[in-house]
Amino acid sequence: MNTRYRKTIIAGNWKMNKTLTETRAFAEELKPILGRPKWCEVVLCVPFVNLQAAGRLFKDAKVSIGAENCHYESSGAFTGEVSAEMLKDLGVKYVVIGHSERRQYYNETDFTVNKKVKAALDNGLRPIVCVGESLEQRELGVTLELITYQVKCALAGVPAEKMRHVVFAYEPIWAIGTGKTATAQEAQEVCQTIRTIIRKLYGARVARAVTIQYGGSMNAANAYELLSQPDIDGGLIGGASLKADQLVEIVNAANQE
Ligand code: PEP
Repeated sequence: MNTRYRKTIIAGNWKMNKTLTETRAFAEELKPILGRPKWCEVVLCVPFVNLQAAGRLFKDAKVSIGAENCHYESSGAFTGEVSAEMLKDLGVKYVVIGHSERRQYYNETDFTVNKKVKAALDNGLRPIVCVGESLEQRELGVTLELITYQVKCALAGVPAEKMRHVVFAYEPIWAIGTGKTATAQEAQEVCQTIRTIIRKLYGARVARAVTIQYGGSMNAANAYELLSQPDIDGGLIGGASLKADQLVEIVNAANQE
């Protein structure tokens, strides 16, 4: 982390978990133990149907609300989809774009990721752009090339002045929901590469201000070491973000720096 130049962001990705009733119970449990973290922003990315309630439930807490996806068009005949404009109108601040589960199960491509990133930014949302390699790609030794390609595609046509709203999440697919975590060195190498690509595209000032998270089985036990790396500015957290006490332990690890 480098809190001098950029914001540390601890974001929970709830995926398709928690009913409205469970979201209410989580808020009751989280708020008294979270306090008001000084060095990091806490974000909860929740299912569409609970966004509005989450906004109300966490209004008096230091928690921002995010969605887990959006469509790239602002309106039209796209049954079942939700636009960035609709999210903004609900008071949502962040949106996860290109999560590997969406790439794997819903045909998300680098091309649609790019369109969604631009739609999010055009509507005043902060995209959390997920990139990451599969185990086969890591074993083939093409991780950094792949990440370079994904980051360049995601940012095509994004102007420098909007870059301060963009967050990247490096999420090795083999580490998501598996209990396997990248070592701090592996995660740092890729996060540093992401920053280098941004520097080549936009210059050093822009690059040093971009928040780059690590995601993939981050938990209370490994968070501090990961977050101590110079280019890891937070976490995108699935499983551990579903338990209020575990999320707070990760936030506390981010606040120790
Ligand atoms: C994720 O959903 O983005 C994620 C990193 O999940 P987990 O923390 O459960 O690996």
